[in-house]
Amino acid sequence: MGKFTAIGYICERCGHRWVPEDQTKEPRVCLKCRSPFWNMKPKEIKK
Ligand SMILES: [Zn+2]
Repeated sequence: MGKFTAIGYICERCGHRWVPEDQTKEPRVCLKCRSPFWNMKPKEIKK
């Protein structure tokens, strides 16, 4: 096993997948759709 691990995030909103430069902290928003709810399932989002 190498040091590299494929740690990435998947946006629940638009399905965008990316690997952050700094993996020590989660991104606040999706890099594509800029949604702050990228880490939440649509069902969990209440208006
Ligand atoms: Zn997104």
